[in-house]
Amino acid sequence: MNVLVAEDSDVIRAIIMQIISELGHTVCAAENGLEAVELFKDQNAEKIDLIVMDAEMPIMDGMTSTSQIRTLAGDDWLPIIFLSAHSEDSYLQKALDSGADVYLRKPINKVELAAQIKAMGRIAEMKNKLDEVNVQLHDLANQDGLTKIANRRAFNERINYELKQSHRNKIPFSLVLCDIDYFKLYNDTYGHLAGDNCLKKVAKTIERSFRRETDMVARYGGEEFAVLLPGTNSDEARPLVENMLKNINALDIPHSSSEVAKHITISAGVVTHNDEENEKTSSTFIHLADKNLYKAKEGGRNQIIVSA
Ligand code: GH3
Ligand code: MG
Ligand code: MG
Ligand code: MG
Repeated sequence: MNVLVAEDSDVIRAIIMQIISELGHTVCAAENGLEAVELFKDQNAEKIDLIVMDAEMPIMDGMTSTSQIRTLAGDDWLPIIFLSAHSEDSYLQKALDSGADVYLRKPINKVELAAQIKAMGRIAEMKNKLDEVNVQLHDLANQDGLTKIANRRAFNERINYELKQSHRNKIPFSLVLCDIDYFKLYNDTYGHLAGDNCLKKVAKTIERSFRRETDMVARYGGEEFAVLLPGTNSDEARPLVENMLKNINALDIPHSSSEVAKHITISAGVVTHNDEENEKTSSTFIHLADKNLYKAKEGGRNQIIVSA
């Protein structure tokens, strides 16, 4: 852990710092509450994991410093051990109210302080593992298991957000719905496993066809994919989607039973939410893209229909 010690007495500060170093943690020091706040504010490379805070200090006392640091830390988990010579319950209550997690009475008992730091270290370790698992869970909840691109759930969340943004900031926003042509026949001809592999390749190819950081490619359902293109009008979307079609054709995945080509092809419907429009609901917007996709299918497949 990286521990911040705020203590005005040189002697006591040295003792605390030694205890912390002996436990294998790195330590930085502040001589008053204000310095502690400043150090906390510009923790760049080294994130502060724990604070040991003296109560009485010049310039800014421990309680004020603790409550300011709590405000800065927001929802971040940050243990603060408070040290004070006061033994009254009312003082202890105030320290806890200001944001202290542990209250230790001075003079410092080395064993007690070391035990508290170890306990906080164990919690910090657990917290880090929990954070990692939470990130993994979040990814899993938003990712399609087969293709590893965003799933329908992530798409739904994002399209609602982007429609609002588009309306609020008066920026265009395009949606592409894609559907693999004659995919049932592909499965019937080559088997379901080959079908799965084909879906993975198509997903990757759609993904690499849209390179803007804010673009999102999602698996909408079975052999259908959706692409969100924030800040993109229909004139800009058209060549991108045409290029995607070209990339799918260039994959040259054999499809002997397709009625449109000798390889896998895709059809797409594109709609754009324009600057001056009333806000559309996501279902209306998706329905419009779906209508264009249907027209592309009717028109002979392996093509796109774009409406402004
Ligand atoms: P169209 O050109 O009109 O889109 O015809 P299509 O055959 O692609 O459309 P249809 O909706 O009839 O068939 C979709 C097929 O996609 C049927 C289904 O078995 C297949 N499919 C959906 N999800 C998966 C999947 O996860 N893996 C595999 N292998 N196939 C899938
Ligand atoms: Mg003091
Ligand atoms: Mg379909
Ligand atoms: Mg299809």
